[in-house]
Amino acid sequence: MHFLLVGQGIAGSTVALMAEKAGLRITNISLPILSNASMVASGLWNPVVLKRMTLVWRAADMLKALEDFYPWAESVTESSFYHPKPIFRLFHNVSEVNEWHSKCSLPVWRDILKPEVTELPAYIQAPLGAGELMHTGWVDTRAYIQAVHRRLQFLESVFFEEFHYDKLKLTESGVVYQGIRYDGVIFADGIHGWQKNPWFPRTFMRPTRGDVLTVSDLPDDWNFVLHFRHFVLPLGENQWKLGATYDFRHLAPHPNLLMANEMLTSLKSVAHVSPKVVETQAGIRPNTKDRRPMIGSHPRHPQLYFINGLGSRGVLMAPKLAEWLILKINDNISVPEDVNIKRCFE
Ligand SMILES: Cc1cc2nc3c(=O)[nH]c(=O)nc-3n(C[C@H](O)[C@H](O)[C@H](O)COP(=O)(O)OP(=O)(O)OC[C@H]3O[C@@H](n4cnc5c(N)ncnc54)[C@H](O)[C@@H]3O)c2cc1C
Repeated sequence: MHFLLVGQGIAGSTVALMAEKAGLRITNISLPILSNASMVASGLWNPVVLKRMTLVWRAADMLKALEDFYPWAESVTESSFYHPKPIFRLFHNVSEVNEWHSKCSLPVWRDILKPEVTELPAYIQAPLGAGELMHTGWVDTRAYIQAVHRRLQFLESVFFEEFHYDKLKLTESGVVYQGIRYDGVIFADGIHGWQKNPWFPRTFMRPTRGDVLTVSDLPDDWNFVLHFRHFVLPLGENQWKLGATYDFRHLAPHPNLLMANEMLTSLKSVAHVSPKVVETQAGIRPNTKDRRPMIGSHPRHPQLYFINGLGSRGVLMAPKLAEWLILKINDNISVPEDVNIKRCFE
């Protein structure tokens, strides 16, 4: 079987490698400038919603798929982008510490939260310390996408160009694009799909814009990921990511300097530091109305497949979602109802 894959962000890259593993032939068409979420993402993953201290939907399945997939993807692409690293969650008050301790005794949390409270360096104002999360880390998403692109070039199955939706012809048994027949199309077109893809269930999307800063001149020994209201991620060579903001109202992918400044103020309220801003970036997250991703095929055109709605957790969710999607395409195994894109057309 031969499929056309549109888009090569986190979703498209993961589908491309999984398809190769499953023996499915794909041709990828992607132009990175059409939507940039995967290029600006900090790439952090963790199985916990840190604000509410609840587990992410299907956290164990997602983590297992992630921990199997990215190391394998590194070896296939002969590249490095997967960085397991603990995340420290700053305790703001005593009830947060108590909640942490009571969760640590529950089996479902035992592998995720360390019971010991960690003392942070003196330049961080954390009299109650921080809790350490396990099975967390970050993927250098730019390096990941570039590595998969090189792999696709090596396989001679990539076109670095825009896909034109109006040139796609649907046939009884597949599709035809620019004179070539395929068994179907997999749309991994992110927020651009929401804007332009005529088959995409538009009204189900609730996009959010986000800012992320690259800063320098934090203390040399700040080599750990810290979550306070925002997060700080060390990149090395005197650079750190400071992220991220959530903005439902302004949906152009341009930095909002007021919001960026709020992150700096928030950082300075928990740490005696004087960061310098090196770069300001912004992107639009493909969030959905019910906060679940969307995968599967179009209800009336089964040759059209989608993987979208990865929201703010693309790195964590992409491996399991891509696995389910490939099983659907190759073996006609239904995708779980909660994430089935059919719910978005009703
Ligand atoms: C500020 C910010 C911080 C974030 N931080 C994190 C984080 O720390 N961890 C995390 O897991 N997630 C994070 N995210 C979320 C993450 O970025 C998304 O979940 C993820 O990038 C979605 O990936 P995607 O492949 O679905 O979409 P996209 O990244 O939008 O990729 C789609 C690709 O397809 C291309 N494309 C689309 N249409 C066409 C077409 N017609 N022709 C050719 N090419 C096309 C686009 O140009 C793009 O390259 C963050 C997002 C933002 C905005």
